Amino acid sequence: MKKKINVRLVFISLVAILATVIGITTVYYGLFQKQVRKDLAVSAKLLKDTHYFESASTDPETIDLSTDMEELRVTWVDKDGTVLYDNDASPESLSNHSDRPEIQEALEKGVGETVRRSDTMNKNTFYYALLLDNGTVLRVATEAESVWSVLYSSLPLVAGIVVMIVIVCVMLSHMLTKQLIRPIEKMASNMEDSSITPPYKELVPFANTIRQQHADILSAAKARQDFTANVSHELKTPLTAISGYAELMETHMVDATQEEHFVREIRKSAQRLLSLINDIIRLSELDRTDQEESFEILDLSEIVADCVSNLQVNADQKNVRLEYQGSPCTIRANKEMMRELADNLIQNAIRYNNEGGSVRIKVDSEDVPEFVVEDTGIGIPKAEQDRVFERFYRVDKSRSKATGGTGLGLAIVKHIVEIHDAKITLESEPGKGSTFRVTF
Ligand code: ADP
Repeated sequence: MKKKINVRLVFISLVAILATVIGITTVYYGLFQKQVRKDLAVSAKLLKDTHYFESASTDPETIDLSTDMEELRVTWVDKDGTVLYDNDASPESLSNHSDRPEIQEALEKGVGETVRRSDTMNKNTFYYALLLDNGTVLRVATEAESVWSVLYSSLPLVAGIVVMIVIVCVMLSHMLTKQLIRPIEKMASNMEDSSITPPYKELVPFANTIRQQHADILSAAKARQDFTANVSHELKTPLTAISGYAELMETHMVDATQEEHFVREIRKSAQRLLSLINDIIRLSELDRTDQEESFEILDLSEIVADCVSNLQVNADQKNVRLEYQGSPCTIRANKEMMRELADNLIQNAIRYNNEGGSVRIKVDSEDVPEFVVEDTGIGIPKAEQDRVFERFYRVDKSRSKATGGTGLGLAIVKHIVEIHDAKITLESEPGKGSTFRVTF
Protein backbone atom coordinates (compact mmCIF):
# COMPACT_ATOMS: atom_id res chain seq x y z
CA MET A 1 0.00 0.00 0.00
CA LYS A 2 2.79 2.41 0.96
CA LYS A 3 4.64 1.67 -2.25
CA LYS A 4 1.48 2.13 -4.31
CA ILE A 5 0.73 5.50 -2.72
CA ASN A 6 4.37 6.57 -3.28
CA VAL A 7 4.34 5.59 -6.94
CA ARG A 8 0.98 7.22 -7.57
CA LEU A 9 1.89 10.46 -5.85
CA VAL A 10 5.12 10.70 -7.85
CA PHE A 11 3.22 9.91 -11.05
CA ILE A 12 0.55 12.53 -10.31
CA SER A 13 3.18 15.17 -9.57
CA LEU A 14 5.08 14.35 -12.75
CA VAL A 15 1.91 14.74 -14.80
CA ALA A 16 1.14 17.99 -12.96
CA ILE A 17 4.65 19.37 -13.57
CA LEU A 18 4.54 18.43 -17.23
CA ALA A 19 1.08 19.95 -17.74
CA THR A 20 2.15 23.14 -15.95
CA VAL A 21 5.38 23.49 -17.95
CA ILE A 22 3.55 22.96 -21.26
CA GLY A 23 0.69 25.29 -20.27
CA ILE A 24 2.91 28.09 -19.01
CA THR A 25 5.30 27.85 -21.97
CA THR A 26 2.42 28.02 -24.43
CA VAL A 27 0.85 31.05 -22.75
CA TYR A 28 4.15 32.90 -22.33
CA TYR A 29 5.33 32.07 -25.79
CA GLY A 30 2.09 33.54 -27.15
CA LEU A 31 2.68 36.72 -25.17
CA PHE A 32 6.31 36.82 -26.24
CA GLN A 33 5.39 36.50 -29.92
CA LYS A 34 2.89 39.31 -29.54
CA GLN A 35 5.53 41.49 -27.94
CA VAL A 36 8.07 40.74 -30.70
CA ARG A 37 5.52 41.70 -33.36
CA LYS A 38 4.61 44.87 -31.51
CA ASP A 39 8.28 45.84 -31.17
CA LEU A 40 8.84 45.20 -34.87
CA ALA A 41 5.86 47.35 -35.78
CA VAL A 42 7.11 50.18 -33.56
CA SER A 43 10.59 49.97 -35.09
CA ALA A 44 9.19 50.00 -38.63
CA LYS A 45 6.95 52.94 -37.89
CA LEU A 46 9.77 54.87 -36.26
CA LEU A 47 12.01 54.26 -39.28
CA LYS A 48 9.20 55.31 -41.60
CA ASP A 49 8.55 58.46 -39.61
CA THR A 50 12.15 59.53 -40.14
CA HIS A 51 11.27 59.76 -43.91
CA TYR A 52 14.88 58.68 -44.40
CA PHE A 53 14.07 56.01 -47.01
CA GLU A 54 11.61 58.25 -48.86
CA SER A 55 13.77 61.21 -49.54
CA ALA A 56 14.75 61.17 -53.18
CA SER A 57 18.35 61.79 -52.31
CA THR A 58 18.81 58.67 -50.35
CA ASP A 59 21.42 56.57 -51.97
CA PRO A 60 21.31 52.97 -50.78
CA GLU A 61 25.09 52.93 -50.88
CA THR A 62 25.27 55.47 -48.10
CA ILE A 63 22.83 53.80 -45.74
CA ASP A 64 24.49 51.95 -42.95
CA LEU A 65 22.42 50.56 -40.14
CA SER A 66 24.43 47.40 -39.54
CA THR A 67 26.52 48.62 -36.61
CA ASP A 68 23.76 49.86 -34.41
CA MET A 69 21.08 47.38 -35.22
CA GLU A 70 22.41 43.92 -34.92
CA GLU A 71 19.17 42.52 -33.54
CA LEU A 72 17.13 44.12 -36.26
CA ARG A 73 17.41 43.35 -39.92
CA VAL A 74 16.22 46.18 -42.11
CA THR A 75 15.48 45.63 -45.77
CA TRP A 76 14.31 48.26 -48.22
CA VAL A 77 12.52 46.90 -51.25
CA ASP A 78 11.48 48.67 -54.39
CA LYS A 79 7.97 48.54 -55.91
CA ASP A 80 9.01 45.68 -58.20
CA GLY A 81 10.62 43.61 -55.44
CA THR A 82 14.22 44.58 -56.09
CA VAL A 83 16.14 44.86 -52.86
CA LEU A 84 17.51 48.40 -52.60
CA TYR A 85 19.16 48.00 -49.25
CA ASP A 86 19.72 45.31 -46.58
CA ASN A 87 21.72 45.88 -43.40
CA ASP A 88 22.75 42.22 -43.24
CA ALA A 89 23.78 41.41 -46.82
CA SER A 90 24.62 43.23 -50.01
CA PRO A 91 21.44 43.93 -52.04
CA GLU A 92 22.94 42.33 -55.19
CA SER A 93 23.26 38.97 -53.51
CA LEU A 94 19.57 38.96 -52.59
CA SER A 95 16.95 37.71 -55.02
CA ASN A 96 13.82 39.62 -55.98
CA HIS A 97 11.55 39.93 -52.94
CA SER A 98 8.22 40.33 -54.76
CA ASP A 99 7.32 36.74 -53.90
CA ARG A 100 7.62 37.29 -50.14
CA PRO A 101 4.17 37.23 -48.58
CA GLU A 102 4.82 40.13 -46.18
CA ILE A 103 6.01 42.32 -49.11
CA GLN A 104 2.98 41.37 -51.23
CA GLU A 105 0.66 42.10 -48.30
CA ALA A 106 2.34 45.46 -47.61
CA LEU A 107 2.03 46.47 -51.27
CA GLU A 108 -1.64 45.57 -51.19
CA LYS A 109 -2.73 46.70 -47.74
CA GLY A 110 0.01 48.99 -46.51
CA VAL A 111 1.18 46.56 -43.83
CA GLY A 112 2.36 42.91 -44.06
CA GLU A 113 3.41 40.39 -41.48
CA THR A 114 4.85 36.82 -41.50
CA VAL A 115 6.74 34.42 -39.33
CA ARG A 116 9.13 31.96 -40.99
CA ARG A 117 10.90 29.09 -39.45
CA SER A 118 14.60 29.24 -40.02
CA ASP A 119 16.63 26.30 -41.27
CA THR A 120 17.94 25.28 -37.90
CA MET A 121 14.31 24.85 -36.74
CA ASN A 122 15.23 26.38 -33.45
CA LYS A 123 14.56 29.93 -34.45
CA ASN A 124 11.66 31.82 -35.93
CA THR A 125 12.10 34.96 -37.99
CA PHE A 126 9.37 37.59 -37.58
CA TYR A 127 8.90 39.99 -40.53
CA TYR A 128 7.01 43.27 -40.55
CA ALA A 129 6.72 45.20 -43.81
CA LEU A 130 5.41 48.75 -44.21
CA LEU A 131 4.51 50.55 -47.43
CA LEU A 132 6.23 53.94 -47.63
CA ASP A 133 4.61 56.99 -49.19
CA ASN A 134 6.81 56.71 -52.29
CA GLY A 135 5.56 53.17 -53.02
CA THR A 136 8.68 51.33 -51.79
CA VAL A 137 8.47 48.89 -48.91
CA LEU A 138 10.46 48.95 -45.70
CA ARG A 139 10.78 45.58 -43.99
CA VAL A 140 12.10 44.93 -40.51
CA ALA A 141 12.84 41.45 -39.21
CA THR A 142 14.09 39.89 -36.05
CA GLU A 143 14.92 36.39 -34.95
CA ALA A 144 13.37 34.84 -31.88
CA GLU A 145 13.63 31.46 -30.32
CA SER A 146 10.97 28.92 -31.36
CA VAL A 147 8.68 27.42 -28.76
CA TRP A 148 10.68 24.17 -28.94
CA SER A 149 13.94 25.86 -28.21
CA VAL A 150 12.31 27.74 -25.32
CA LEU A 151 11.11 24.40 -23.98
CA TYR A 152 14.47 22.82 -24.67
CA SER A 153 16.38 25.56 -22.91
CA SER A 154 14.13 25.27 -19.86
CA LEU A 155 14.76 21.53 -19.66
CA PRO A 156 17.58 21.61 -17.07
CA LEU A 157 15.46 23.80 -14.83
CA VAL A 158 12.43 21.56 -15.31
CA ALA A 159 14.54 18.47 -14.58
CA GLY A 160 15.83 20.10 -11.40
CA ILE A 161 12.29 20.94 -10.29
CA VAL A 162 11.15 17.38 -11.11
CA VAL A 163 13.91 15.86 -9.00
CA MET A 164 13.09 18.17 -6.13
CA ILE A 165 9.36 17.48 -6.35
CA VAL A 166 9.95 13.74 -6.54
CA ILE A 167 12.03 13.90 -3.36
CA VAL A 168 9.36 16.00 -1.62
CA CYS A 169 6.64 13.61 -2.90
CA VAL A 170 8.44 10.55 -1.59
CA MET A 171 8.91 12.18 1.79
CA LEU A 172 5.32 13.43 1.89
CA SER A 173 3.83 10.14 0.79
CA HIS A 174 5.92 8.35 3.36
CA MET A 175 4.51 10.57 6.08
CA LEU A 176 1.03 10.45 4.65
CA THR A 177 0.88 6.66 4.36
CA LYS A 178 2.24 6.31 7.86
CA GLN A 179 -0.48 8.63 9.13
CA LEU A 180 -3.15 6.86 7.08
CA ILE A 181 -2.11 3.38 8.09
CA ARG A 182 -1.49 3.89 11.79
CA PRO A 183 -5.21 3.88 12.79
CA ILE A 184 -5.82 0.84 10.53
CA GLU A 185 -3.03 -1.05 12.25
CA LYS A 186 -4.44 -0.04 15.62
CA MET A 187 -7.88 -1.30 14.61
CA ALA A 188 -6.41 -4.55 13.24
CA SER A 189 -4.68 -5.32 16.51
CA ASN A 190 -7.94 -4.75 18.44
CA MET A 191 -10.32 -6.25 15.90
CA GLU A 192 -12.60 -7.93 18.44
CA ASP A 193 -13.03 -4.73 20.47
CA SER A 194 -16.22 -3.26 19.02
CA SER A 195 -15.77 -0.03 21.05
CA ILE A 196 -12.98 0.96 18.63
CA THR A 197 -14.72 2.55 15.67
CA PRO A 198 -13.04 2.16 12.27
CA PRO A 199 -10.88 5.24 11.48
CA TYR A 200 -12.44 5.71 8.02
CA LYS A 201 -16.08 5.31 7.15
CA GLU A 202 -15.11 3.27 4.07
CA LEU A 203 -13.71 0.65 6.45
CA VAL A 204 -16.96 0.25 8.42
CA PRO A 205 -18.40 -2.60 6.25
CA PHE A 206 -15.02 -4.35 6.26
CA ALA A 207 -14.69 -4.08 10.05
CA ASN A 208 -18.30 -5.18 10.54
CA THR A 209 -17.77 -8.26 8.37
CA ILE A 210 -14.59 -9.22 10.20
CA ARG A 211 -16.19 -8.65 13.59
CA GLN A 212 -19.26 -10.64 12.58
CA GLN A 213 -17.04 -13.48 11.35
CA HIS A 214 -15.07 -13.32 14.56
CA ALA A 215 -18.25 -13.49 16.65
CA ASP A 216 -19.53 -16.37 14.47
CA ILE A 217 -16.29 -18.32 14.93
CA LEU A 218 -16.44 -17.78 18.69
CA SER A 219 -20.07 -18.82 18.93
CA ALA A 220 -19.45 -21.86 16.69
CA ALA A 221 -16.55 -22.88 18.92
CA LYS A 222 -18.74 -22.41 21.99
CA ALA A 223 -21.58 -24.41 20.39
CA ARG A 224 -19.14 -27.21 19.56
CA GLN A 225 -17.85 -27.22 23.12
CA ASP A 226 -21.38 -27.29 24.55
CA PHE A 227 -22.34 -30.03 22.13
CA THR A 228 -19.38 -32.21 23.13
CA ALA A 229 -20.20 -31.70 26.82
CA ASN A 230 -23.87 -32.52 26.19
CA VAL A 231 -23.08 -35.59 24.12
CA SER A 232 -20.76 -36.94 26.81
CA HIS A 233 -23.41 -36.35 29.42
CA GLU A 234 -26.19 -37.93 27.33
CA LEU A 235 -24.07 -41.02 26.59
CA LYS A 236 -22.98 -41.38 30.16
CA THR A 237 -26.48 -41.89 31.60
CA PRO A 238 -27.49 -45.04 29.64
CA LEU A 239 -23.95 -46.42 29.85
CA THR A 240 -23.95 -46.02 33.65
CA ALA A 241 -27.31 -47.79 33.79
CA ILE A 242 -26.10 -50.65 31.57
CA SER A 243 -22.92 -51.01 33.57
CA GLY A 244 -24.79 -50.97 36.91
CA TYR A 245 -27.42 -53.53 35.88
CA ALA A 246 -24.77 -55.81 34.35
CA GLU A 247 -22.67 -55.63 37.50
CA LEU A 248 -25.62 -56.59 39.68
CA MET A 249 -26.35 -59.56 37.42
CA GLU A 250 -22.70 -60.54 37.35
CA THR A 251 -22.47 -60.68 41.14
CA HIS A 252 -25.74 -62.72 41.23
CA MET A 253 -27.43 -60.11 43.34
CA VAL A 254 -30.58 -60.35 41.21
CA ASP A 255 -33.18 -63.02 41.67
CA ALA A 256 -34.86 -64.77 38.74
CA THR A 257 -37.98 -62.55 38.84
CA GLN A 258 -35.95 -59.30 38.67
CA GLU A 259 -33.61 -60.54 36.02
CA GLU A 260 -36.09 -60.07 33.19
CA HIS A 261 -36.68 -56.46 34.28
CA PHE A 262 -32.93 -55.79 34.42
CA VAL A 263 -32.35 -57.28 30.99
CA ARG A 264 -35.15 -55.08 29.59
CA GLU A 265 -33.61 -52.02 31.19
CA ILE A 266 -30.23 -52.90 29.67
CA ARG A 267 -31.84 -53.31 26.25
CA LYS A 268 -33.71 -49.99 26.61
CA SER A 269 -30.51 -48.17 27.58
CA ALA A 270 -28.65 -49.76 24.68
CA GLN A 271 -31.49 -48.74 22.36
CA ARG A 272 -31.24 -45.21 23.70
CA LEU A 273 -27.51 -45.16 23.05
CA LEU A 274 -28.11 -46.31 19.50
CA SER A 275 -30.75 -43.64 18.85
CA LEU A 276 -28.46 -40.98 20.28
CA ILE A 277 -25.48 -42.08 18.21
CA ASN A 278 -27.65 -42.30 15.08
CA ASP A 279 -28.89 -38.74 15.60
CA ILE A 280 -25.38 -37.43 16.32
CA ILE A 281 -24.04 -39.09 13.16
CA ARG A 282 -26.99 -37.65 11.20
CA LEU A 283 -26.30 -34.14 12.49
CA SER A 284 -22.63 -34.33 11.55
CA GLU A 285 -23.62 -35.60 8.09
CA LEU A 286 -25.99 -32.65 7.70
CA ASP A 287 -23.11 -30.31 8.61
CA ARG A 288 -21.39 -31.26 5.36
CA THR A 289 -21.85 -28.50 2.82
CA ASP A 290 -22.13 -30.43 -0.46
CA GLN A 291 -25.79 -31.42 0.02
CA GLU A 292 -27.10 -29.68 -3.12
CA GLU A 293 -25.89 -32.52 -5.36
CA SER A 294 -28.37 -34.99 -3.89
CA PHE A 295 -31.40 -32.81 -4.63
CA GLU A 296 -34.14 -34.03 -6.98
CA ILE A 297 -37.60 -32.99 -8.10
CA LEU A 298 -40.12 -34.87 -5.93
CA ASP A 299 -43.72 -34.81 -4.74
CA LEU A 300 -43.68 -33.93 -1.05
CA SER A 301 -47.25 -35.21 -0.53
CA GLU A 302 -46.19 -38.75 -1.47
CA ILE A 303 -43.32 -38.77 1.02
CA VAL A 304 -45.49 -37.39 3.82
CA ALA A 305 -48.30 -39.91 3.03
CA ASP A 306 -45.73 -42.67 3.38
CA CYS A 307 -44.53 -41.38 6.77
CA VAL A 308 -48.10 -41.02 8.01
CA SER A 309 -48.90 -44.64 7.19
CA ASN A 310 -45.64 -45.82 8.83
CA LEU A 311 -46.40 -43.92 12.02
CA GLN A 312 -50.03 -45.06 12.19
CA VAL A 313 -49.01 -47.91 14.56
CA ASN A 314 -47.33 -45.45 16.98
CA ALA A 315 -50.40 -43.25 16.91
CA ASP A 316 -52.72 -46.20 17.55
CA GLN A 317 -50.60 -47.25 20.50
CA LYS A 318 -51.02 -43.82 22.04
CA ASN A 319 -54.64 -43.57 20.97
CA VAL A 320 -53.93 -40.53 18.84
CA ARG A 321 -55.86 -39.90 15.61
CA LEU A 322 -53.83 -39.04 12.48
CA GLU A 323 -55.58 -36.95 9.78
CA TYR A 324 -53.76 -36.43 6.54
CA GLN A 325 -54.74 -33.94 3.86
CA GLY A 326 -52.39 -33.87 0.91
CA SER A 327 -52.41 -32.44 -2.59
CA PRO A 328 -49.57 -32.83 -5.13
CA CYS A 329 -46.67 -30.57 -4.21
CA THR A 330 -43.57 -30.62 -6.39
CA ILE A 331 -40.34 -29.30 -4.89
CA ARG A 332 -36.61 -29.69 -5.40
CA ALA A 333 -35.28 -31.45 -2.34
CA ASN A 334 -33.43 -34.40 -0.90
CA LYS A 335 -35.83 -37.33 -0.52
CA GLU A 336 -34.16 -38.86 2.54
CA MET A 337 -34.09 -35.51 4.35
CA MET A 338 -37.75 -34.83 3.57
CA ARG A 339 -38.64 -38.22 5.02
CA GLU A 340 -36.65 -37.40 8.18
CA LEU A 341 -38.27 -33.98 8.45
CA ALA A 342 -41.81 -35.39 8.22
CA ASP A 343 -40.95 -38.29 10.50
CA ASN A 344 -39.51 -36.12 13.26
CA LEU A 345 -42.36 -33.60 13.24
CA ILE A 346 -45.16 -36.21 13.11
CA GLN A 347 -43.47 -38.38 15.74
CA ASN A 348 -43.16 -35.40 18.09
CA ALA A 349 -46.83 -34.54 17.51
CA ILE A 350 -47.78 -38.08 18.56
CA ARG A 351 -45.25 -38.26 21.39
CA TYR A 352 -46.25 -34.99 23.04
CA ASN A 353 -49.97 -35.52 22.53
CA ASN A 354 -52.69 -36.37 25.01
CA GLU A 355 -54.62 -39.60 25.18
CA GLY A 356 -57.41 -39.39 22.59
CA GLY A 357 -55.80 -36.36 20.91
CA SER A 358 -55.32 -35.82 17.20
CA VAL A 359 -52.68 -34.73 14.68
CA ARG A 360 -53.57 -32.92 11.43
CA ILE A 361 -50.98 -33.18 8.72
CA LYS A 362 -51.27 -31.05 5.59
CA VAL A 363 -49.27 -30.71 2.38
CA ASP A 364 -50.29 -28.20 -0.26
CA SER A 365 -48.85 -25.76 -2.75
CA GLU A 366 -51.59 -23.11 -2.99
CA ASP A 367 -49.37 -20.04 -2.48
CA VAL A 368 -46.06 -21.68 -1.74
CA PRO A 369 -45.19 -25.34 -1.10
CA GLU A 370 -46.13 -25.91 2.53
CA PHE A 371 -46.05 -28.76 5.04
CA VAL A 372 -48.01 -28.36 8.31
CA VAL A 373 -48.19 -30.59 11.38
CA GLU A 374 -50.81 -29.48 13.89
CA ASP A 375 -51.43 -31.35 17.15
CA THR A 376 -53.78 -31.09 20.11
CA GLY A 377 -50.98 -31.97 22.51
CA ILE A 378 -49.34 -30.46 25.57
CA GLY A 379 -47.98 -27.42 23.73
CA ILE A 380 -44.78 -25.47 24.35
CA PRO A 381 -44.51 -22.37 26.57
CA LYS A 382 -43.80 -19.15 24.64
CA ALA A 383 -40.40 -18.63 26.30
CA GLU A 384 -39.16 -22.03 25.13
CA GLN A 385 -40.50 -22.01 21.59
CA ASP A 386 -37.18 -20.82 20.12
CA ARG A 387 -35.05 -23.06 22.29
CA VAL A 388 -36.69 -26.36 21.31
CA PHE A 389 -34.68 -26.23 18.06
CA GLU A 390 -31.41 -26.25 20.01
CA ARG A 391 -29.47 -29.50 20.33
CA PHE A 392 -30.48 -31.52 23.42
CA TYR A 393 -33.00 -28.94 24.56
CA ARG A 394 -36.11 -30.54 26.00
CA VAL A 395 -39.06 -28.84 27.67
CA ASP A 396 -40.08 -31.91 29.65
CA LYS A 397 -36.92 -33.97 30.00
CA SER A 398 -38.47 -37.05 31.63
CA ARG A 399 -41.29 -37.28 29.11
CA SER A 400 -38.84 -36.98 26.26
CA LYS A 401 -36.63 -39.71 27.63
CA ALA A 402 -39.55 -41.96 28.51
CA THR A 403 -40.81 -41.80 24.94
CA GLY A 404 -37.34 -42.44 23.44
CA GLY A 405 -36.55 -38.85 22.53
CA THR A 406 -32.95 -37.78 22.10
CA GLY A 407 -33.43 -34.02 22.19
CA LEU A 408 -31.91 -33.82 18.70
CA GLY A 409 -35.02 -34.31 16.51
CA LEU A 410 -35.90 -30.62 16.08
CA ALA A 411 -32.21 -29.69 15.69
CA ILE A 412 -32.07 -32.11 12.74
CA VAL A 413 -35.35 -30.63 11.39
CA LYS A 414 -33.95 -27.08 11.62
CA HIS A 415 -30.78 -28.15 9.86
CA ILE A 416 -32.70 -29.82 7.01
CA VAL A 417 -34.91 -26.72 6.65
CA GLU A 418 -31.80 -24.51 6.35
CA ILE A 419 -30.20 -26.79 3.76
CA HIS A 420 -33.38 -26.46 1.66
CA ASP A 421 -33.56 -22.68 2.05
CA ALA A 422 -36.97 -23.19 3.60
CA LYS A 423 -38.52 -21.64 6.71
CA ILE A 424 -39.99 -23.25 9.81
CA THR A 425 -42.39 -21.51 12.18
CA LEU A 426 -43.91 -22.70 15.42
CA GLU A 427 -47.17 -21.62 16.98
CA SER A 428 -48.01 -23.20 20.25
CA GLU A 429 -50.06 -22.75 23.38
CA PRO A 430 -49.49 -24.91 26.46
CA GLY A 431 -52.45 -27.26 27.00
CA LYS A 432 -53.93 -26.56 23.56
CA GLY A 433 -51.37 -27.84 21.06
CA SER A 434 -48.64 -26.91 18.62
CA THR A 435 -48.41 -26.16 14.91
CA PHE A 436 -45.14 -26.60 13.03
CA ARG A 437 -45.23 -25.05 9.54
CA VAL A 438 -42.49 -25.55 6.95
CA THR A 439 -42.65 -23.32 3.86
CA PHE A 440 -40.43 -23.89 0.83
P1 ADP B 1 -37.03 -34.98 21.59
O1 ADP B 1 -36.22 -36.12 21.07
O2 ADP B 1 -36.84 -34.76 23.03
O3 ADP B 1 -38.43 -35.01 21.14
P2 ADP B 1 -36.84 -32.71 19.84
O4 ADP B 1 -35.67 -31.97 19.40
O5 ADP B 1 -37.61 -33.42 18.79
O6 ADP B 1 -36.32 -33.72 20.93
O7 ADP B 1 -37.78 -31.75 20.59
C1 ADP B 1 -37.22 -30.91 21.58
C2 ADP B 1 -38.25 -30.64 22.67
O8 ADP B 1 -39.32 -29.88 22.15
C3 ADP B 1 -38.93 -31.90 23.15
O9 ADP B 1 -38.21 -32.49 24.19
C4 ADP B 1 -40.26 -31.39 23.62
O10 ADP B 1 -40.19 -30.93 24.95
C5 ADP B 1 -40.55 -30.23 22.73
N1 ADP B 1 -41.49 -30.57 21.61
C6 ADP B 1 -41.18 -30.97 20.38
N2 ADP B 1 -42.26 -31.17 19.60
C7 ADP B 1 -43.32 -30.91 20.41
C8 ADP B 1 -44.74 -30.95 20.22
N3 ADP B 1 -45.29 -31.27 19.05
N4 ADP B 1 -45.52 -30.60 21.25
C9 ADP B 1 -44.97 -30.23 22.45
N5 ADP B 1 -43.65 -30.19 22.68
C10 ADP B 1 -42.82 -30.53 21.69
